[in-house]
Amino acid sequence: SKKPVRVAVTGAAGQIGYALLFRIASGEMLGKDQPVILQLLEIPDEKAQKALKGVMMELEDCAFPLLAGMEAHSDPMTAFKDTDYALLVGARPRGPGMERKDLLSANAQIFTAQGKALNAVASRNVRVLVVGNPANTNAYIAMKSAPDLPRKNFTAMLRLDHNRALSQIAAKTGKPVASIEKMAVWGNHSPTMYADYRFATIEGQSVKEMINDEEWNRNVFLPTVGKRGAAIIEARGLSSAASAANAAIDHMRDWALGTNGKWVTMGVPSNGEYGIPKDVIFGYPVTCEGGEYKIVEGLPIDEFSQERLNITLKELQEEQDGVKHLL
Ligand code: NDP
Repeated sequence: SKKPVRVAVTGAAGQIGYALLFRIASGEMLGKDQPVILQLLEIPDEKAQKALKGVMMELEDCAFPLLAGMEAHSDPMTAFKDTDYALLVGARPRGPGMERKDLLSANAQIFTAQGKALNAVASRNVRVLVVGNPANTNAYIAMKSAPDLPRKNFTAMLRLDHNRALSQIAAKTGKPVASIEKMAVWGNHSPTMYADYRFATIEGQSVKEMINDEEWNRNVFLPTVGKRGAAIIEARGLSSAASAANAAIDHMRDWALGTNGKWVTMGVPSNGEYGIPKDVIFGYPVTCEGGEYKIVEGLPIDEFSQERLNITLKELQEEQDGVKHLL
């Protein structure tokens, strides 16, 4: 049987953590033959640590055959020791009266410390997924704080936007969600992201031609996908957690186990693809194979799409400027 791999999860006692850990431990992320050791990080706060113990009690009570070990931590320097995968979920939520720049700098401190800790103690090939918002910029900060680790191993979650786009297209066309190929989401995990079905196909047929309604794209589809998080908060009284956790599982599983040529969306550091400056963590369509992702290149960008790319890039650059002095 396979040797266990180490999976670190931060914000482990939070709502996304609660929807995530049981699925990792059951093998849905890394495969039904891959034992895992969970290294769970929470803030030192007594309540958070106690809640984390409770989650661990429930994990024990599931008696997952693949759960080879479990640890609670309050310090990233121990939580990230030798970790092969790191899911950075915990982040500072926006408090009352808190401005965007306060949120950015509170998170910059967390992700600088976590990047440094990964740099110091994680596996040299650790694969990092940032879920905590602002996810792209937090991933950028962690990457910049970990100069000894491969840049390409720092990613941000855009998979929820991707999956939301798939579900809207499935509803519009009446086709099964699994039949949709070649969806792309570009840019920041924020309402400025650009969900792009220009290349999408269903059973070989162009989705754009099937829908054939540019007004729907601009005035219904894009705002619906962009504001879906807010719509869920409005309906549920709580932010989306199960779907966010599901997207994190999808992201890591596809990265580790491959997509068989299928496109998925990941936020990854640019090497200049599509004119995005190097190191900006940008949502791109990718394929995965052999534990590596590859950006889908050479797609035509029309005028409307270029405008949308410019808008989301501008927002990312403003976020980066806001934390520059801390790096
Ligand atoms: P959640 O588990 O609901 O959310 C965690 C993070 O994921 C937030 O930054 C949230 O952003 C983000 N997120 C990304 N995509 C989504 C999405 N689609 N829907 C909802 N959230 C999304 O937060 P909780 O408050 O329940 O739990 C956070 C935990 O993290 C707490 O237990 C806290 O103690 C811990 N924490 C840990 C830190 C650390 O490890 N150093 C630092 C700070 C907190 P958004 O805020 O925009 O919703």
